[in-house]
Amino acid sequence: MSDNRVWSYSAVLMGSPILLKLFSHDEALASRVFSLIKQYEDLFTVNRADSQVMDINHAAGRHPVVVSRPVYELIKCAKAASQLPESAFNLAIGPLVKLWRIGFKGDSVPAADEIAARLRITRPQDVILDDAAASVFLAQPGMEIDLGAIAKGFIADRVRDYLHQQGVSDGLINLGGNVQTLGSPQGGWSIGVKKPFAAADALVGSIEVVNKSVVTSGTYERYFEQDGKLWHHILDPRSGYPLNNELDSVTVISTDSLDGDIWTTLLFGLGVEKGCALLRQRQDIEAIFVSKNREITLSSRRQFRFTPLDASYRLTD
Ligand code: ADP
Ligand code: MG
Ligand code: MG
Repeated sequence: MSDNRVWSYSAVLMGSPILLKLFSHDEALASRVFSLIKQYEDLFTVNRADSQVMDINHAAGRHPVVVSRPVYELIKCAKAASQLPESAFNLAIGPLVKLWRIGFKGDSVPAADEIAARLRITRPQDVILDDAAASVFLAQPGMEIDLGAIAKGFIADRVRDYLHQQGVSDGLINLGGNVQTLGSPQGGWSIGVKKPFAAADALVGSIEVVNKSVVTSGTYERYFEQDGKLWHHILDPRSGYPLNNELDSVTVISTDSLDGDIWTTLLFGLGVEKGCALLRQRQDIEAIFVSKNREITLSSRRQFRFTPLDASYRLTD
């Protein structure tokens, strides 16, 4: 039974605060949702030695590893996204992520020759998949899969499916950067778009969505400063350096949060102009680009309403 009150439940998982909103008071359901998230985290994490993804990484250059179906399917989807033309997304980016250590203690700009060496072991085509066996083989020693950019999206979608199954018609899960929504309380869920490099609760705007995922990826989320420059955590797999263009953040509105995750990275790589051109061919994916020069560009607005909230930003669409 739902009522008109929103009940919020929170936990810290995957290194972020997780927020679940429901229209019924149901502690038991909330704790089942949190344990579902925990189970998936255990499969995908590369921050601990014993996940299935780490099993694959440990066997790099040696032998294939059979994994569970969800892990296999997510890796297969990630490989396909990595091989799209001009893709900035790369599931085999692990060695570069580890080299940069962005957002961790002791992060600094690595030597150019070290970056070049790591680039040679980040090729998506060296991730060898076997559908029948559900096995993954990293062909070069030292290779590492990193699903950090998409695990949250995949998990947000599984939580949505689970809530549906449980008969929940209106709900929201926020995994920190990934928001997945069910239903349309009061005409839609309102979700903020953060103001880059400002206080945590400062927004450039808010959007209203019904049954949609909203994913934001921003340079301001994790970075360090050195030599007067800002080095952030979304790397360009072609250069081995952080993606460097006019953007501070990209927000993607889509049905599945996994698509949102992949597309935020693809669009970050393309920039505003090429990104909008590509999205003209996609009815199902929409984006909000926030640029360093304080412009907000909407690719279109079919699936959401946008309300600007900061007068120092100019809206262009
Ligand atoms: P957030 O961590 O804020 O959710 P993203 O969703 O953009 O940000 O994911 C960033 C993470 O994805 C990085 O911390 C790293 O683990 C991984 N990553 C960085 N660059 C790439 C890339 N080009 N392709 C795929 N994964 C990446
Ligand atoms: Mg993310
Ligand atoms: Mg992303």
